[in-house]
Amino acid sequence: MIYLDNAATTPVRREVLEAMWPLLTGDFGNPSSHHALGDSAGRALGSARRDLGDWFGARPSEITFTSGGTEAINLAIKGIALGRPRGRHIVTTPIEHEATLESVEFLRRVHGFDVSFAPVDAVGRVDLNALAGLLRDDTTLVSVLAAHNEIGTVQDTAAIGAIARAAGAVLHVDAVQAAGWLDVSLDALGADAVSISGHKLGAPKGVGALAARSRLVIEPLLHGGGQERGRRSGTENVAAAVGLALAARLSSTGRAEASGRVAELRDELIRRIEAAVPAARLTGSREHRLPSIASFLFAGTSGEAVLLGLEERGVVSSSGSACAAGSDEPSPVLLALGIDPMDAQTAVRFSLSTATTAADVEAAAAATGEAVRTLTQLR
Ligand code: PLP
Repeated sequence: MIYLDNAATTPVRREVLEAMWPLLTGDFGNPSSHHALGDSAGRALGSARRDLGDWFGARPSEITFTSGGTEAINLAIKGIALGRPRGRHIVTTPIEHEATLESVEFLRRVHGFDVSFAPVDAVGRVDLNALAGLLRDDTTLVSVLAAHNEIGTVQDTAAIGAIARAAGAVLHVDAVQAAGWLDVSLDALGADAVSISGHKLGAPKGVGALAARSRLVIEPLLHGGGQERGRRSGTENVAAAVGLALAARLSSTGRAEASGRVAELRDELIRRIEAAVPAARLTGSREHRLPSIASFLFAGTSGEAVLLGLEERGVVSSSGSACAAGSDEPSPVLLALGIDPMDAQTAVRFSLSTATTAADVEAAAAATGEAVRTLTQLR
C-alpha cells in the first residue's frame, strides 16, 4: 500500500512509542500524587513541558497539553475570547478547520460575539489589506491556519500577527498541519497562541498542545482539579504528553532538509499527475505550499470514485479533510475559493511524509492517470 493520506494521520514513531511505554506500565503514577511514583510521573511531564516549550520558543508554563488539535483550538478561541476583557469581535477566514469555524459559531450563538471572515484569494491566501480593514476597536481575537489541511496553502502569519497586534487583538494560529514542516514557534509564526496535534507528526491520536503567552487570561473549557495551571483540568495523559514532546523534537531534527526533499517529491507528483491527466487542476498556491500536500480537481470524475480507483491500485489518499470524508457535500473550503460546486466534488488530496519515496510518487501518479482515464471513458 502506498499511503498518501498523512494529512489525515500518521503512524506513531517507534522512538515515541518506546518513550511512552514505561509511563504506561512500570512508571504509571499520577503526576499529582505525593509519592515516588507520582513524583516520577511529574518529572516526566515537567520535562515534556520544558522540551515542548523550547520547541515553541515559549516558557514551560505557557504550554497546555490537550486531548488533540480540536481541543487546543477550542481552548484558544473560546478561552481567549471569553478571558480577554477587550471586546466581542473575532476575525477569522472562511477556509478554517471546523474546530475554528464551530468555535467562533458557538461564541456568536451563545455569547453574542460578532464574527467577521477575512476574504481569501483563489489559492486560499488571506487578503491582508481586507483583513486589516475588518479590525475594529472591539476586535479581541484573530484566528488563522498556518497551513491549510485540504489545499496546503501557507499563510503569512507573521504579517497577520503584526496587523492584529497593531489593532490590539491577539493572534491564534492553527498549526496542526504546519507542525513538523515549518517552524511553528510563537515568534516565527508571529502568534500569541499556537495549536498543534500529536497524530499529524508521529505521536498518538488524542494528544495535542496549546502554546499561549502567559499574559493571556484563558477561560478554561474543563473545570476540575486545576491541572495545567488551571487552563485544563483533568489528570494529565503523561505518556502521550511525553510522546508529543519527543515527536515534536524529532520533527525538527533535519527539518529543512526533510522539507526540501519532500517538497521535491510533491513537485514531481504534481508534474507527473499534470502529465498523466491533462485536465487535472492543482488547488491552492504553487508558491506558498506545505511540502507535504498536493490536491487536485479532476473534472469529469467524482473525487470519491477516483479514490476508489486509487485504492484498487494500492494507493490511499483522500478527498480533502478526513472530517468531511464520506460527505456528499462539496468542500466548503473549495467553494470559498470560488470553485464551481460540480468541480469541487472532484477533489483528491495527496499528502506525503518523510517516508514517501520517488517510487511511491511514480506509482501514485500512474495509478491516478489510469483511475481518471477509466472514469472519464465510462462516461
Ligand atoms: N486543524 C487542522 C488544520 C487539522 O487538519 C486538524 C485535523 O485534521 C485539526 C485541526 C484537528 O486536530 P485533531 O484531529 O487532533 O482534533
